[in-house]
Amino acid sequence: MARRDAEFIRRWLGAAAEAITRDASRLTELDSAIGDADHGSNMRRGFTAVVAALTEEPPPDPGHTLLVAGRTLISTVGGASGPLYGTLLRGAGKALGDEQTVADERLAEALRAGVDSVARLGGAAAGDKTMLDALLPAVAVLPDYAAARQAAEEGAKATVPLRARKGRASYLGERSMGHLDPGAASSALLVVALAETAAA
Ligand code: ADP
Ligand code: MG
Ligand code: MG
Repeated sequence: MARRDAEFIRRWLGAAAEAITRDASRLTELDSAIGDADHGSNMRRGFTAVVAALTEEPPPDPGHTLLVAGRTLISTVGGASGPLYGTLLRGAGKALGDEQTVADERLAEALRAGVDSVARLGGAAAGDKTMLDALLPAVAVLPDYAAARQAAEEGAKATVPLRARKGRASYLGERSMGHLDPGAASSALLVVALAETAAA
């Protein structure tokens, strides 16, 4: 199995930033149906800042790359998604410490730890119609990147009929049903970017 370095993480987050920028208006549209119409702009601002931070002063190892990216999201995104995605990346970074390269299995474990931190911070579980509905099934099958991509995309789609139990969308109660969760949609983009980076 491959070993991953800081450059791999930078390429992943760079590909994620591109996908988010490309789909920002779609993410904001999803958030206009069950939220406050800012998810695309929140994510674009955050990931643009992540790419800038990692380009300016590239950290030497995967762990610190993830820590800097997470910290940048927390400090640049005002919405709920900033602290949540920031916690995911910081949690994964912390788990990796300062190893120069990590095996795929180790990166998978670190990402599972990051997703667990998101669940602890936000108090959400599977089926609550949040980003976790895409993230949990994806990290469960890592390091099979292709399977993770499929699980994230299916998990995001499966949020449509659900009633939101966390975040702004939960204020709508039953009216949140019938809409794709914006955070689950952006999570799928992050997992697709990871799978494409691993396959490149
Ligand atoms: P805000 O709701 O503050 O405007 P965003 O629009 O950027 O923030 O992000 C909304 C997304 O954040 C939701 O679609 C959902 O996926 C995710 N989210 C909100 N609250 C939680 C939570 N407690 N746990 C996990 N994810 C959450
Ligand atoms: Mg919003
Ligand atoms: Mg908002």
